Amino acid sequence: MMSSRVLFVCHTGSISGAELVLLDLVRPWIGQSALLFEDGPLHQALAARGLNVKVSPWGSGLNDVRRDSSFVKVVPAAGAMLGIVAEVARFARRHDVVYANSQKAFVLSAIAAKLARRPLIWHLHDIISPAHFGRMQRRVQVMLANHCTIKVVVPSKAAADAFVAEGGRKELVAIVPNGLDIPPETQTSAELRRELDLPQGPLVGVFSRLAEWKGQHVVLRALAKAPGVSCILAGSALFGEETYEQRLRQMVGDLDIADRVHFLGQRNDVPRLMRAVDAVIHPSIDPEPFGRTLVEAMLAEVPVIATDAGAASDILEDGKAGTLVPPDDPDAMAHAIRNAMSPSPAHAEQIRHAAARARSHYSVGQMLDATSGLIRQVAGEKA
Ligand code: UDP
Repeated sequence: MMSSRVLFVCHTGSISGAELVLLDLVRPWIGQSALLFEDGPLHQALAARGLNVKVSPWGSGLNDVRRDSSFVKVVPAAGAMLGIVAEVARFARRHDVVYANSQKAFVLSAIAAKLARRPLIWHLHDIISPAHFGRMQRRVQVMLANHCTIKVVVPSKAAADAFVAEGGRKELVAIVPNGLDIPPETQTSAELRRELDLPQGPLVGVFSRLAEWKGQHVVLRALAKAPGVSCILAGSALFGEETYEQRLRQMVGDLDIADRVHFLGQRNDVPRLMRAVDAVIHPSIDPEPFGRTLVEAMLAEVPVIATDAGAASDILEDGKAGTLVPPDDPDAMAHAIRNAMSPSPAHAEQIRHAAARARSHYSVGQMLDATSGLIRQVAGEKA
């Protein structure tokens, strides 16, 4: 039996949540292809998974097109876009299925896949809403999805509902929760703190790229109301949010909490850092399409405090597997932090329940079964 030939398309070379999902998702597809619109660590990571990776020479022409770009900014990039569309179409003809892993990748792949007459799967990792996309972008995305895709994979009901609310066809949607496999950590929190040079005493952590909607500023305000609690912030401004990072650093001084807040930058040892803290905070102020960080914290067997927006309530089972607080509410977050610092038998039970739930609902195996099955089905492979 010939196995399907798959072309994965991704606009970025950086690795945030969506790209970490992709890196797991390509595991069964050794020898298949990936096309990136820019170079970066994702290139090596995909190559290490056995994919043939190509970086489009046209990609640099897209750098000015941010998600909120005005039409005026988009026009000069039109040449680059045409170049990429032609390139994706040329590659697509040598494959059975095109799998687009991001917004920009999807929009350009949609046209290319039509030209090449190849089926297109869009893995939509975002909540399509006015908080993240302009009106025009939302319309274009949904219109292209309705006309050019054979399936739209989303990680949660929250992401599915947002797509349908914007006019997306319900029958296109397949909900496939993100899966995570994290080997159990054997070292204790105290050992890890010593080894990783982390502060002693009550300690919380935030493990998200620095971006306003991820809500790190709310945590800083909450910390000002939770004396004696220190915080590590892992993550960097991956997608051009450097001014937000400056604002956070300024806030730390203004709130007089500089001695308790530690910016760690982008880390590749998040599971160990999580094991070392007393609670993981997921403070997004806009709805999360998924939130890998939540599942990682559940697997690390650490209490989770998350804002009740988007997929968090599903993942945390309406508060049974973690504490939900209203978004953008420093008082409620401070209260939850203080509460998490005095563990009780009920907390311990919640942590055990959360870890079991993460293993049973959010495994890589489940995600791979669903996505690979879909790819094979779309490619017309016989079982
Ligand atoms: N992450 C990381 N290093 C950091 C901060 C975050 O590897 O310094 C990882 C984190 O462990 C998680 C991912 O980045 O796996 C973020 O995924 P999530 O779904 O929470 O958010 P996204 O970035 O996709 O919006």
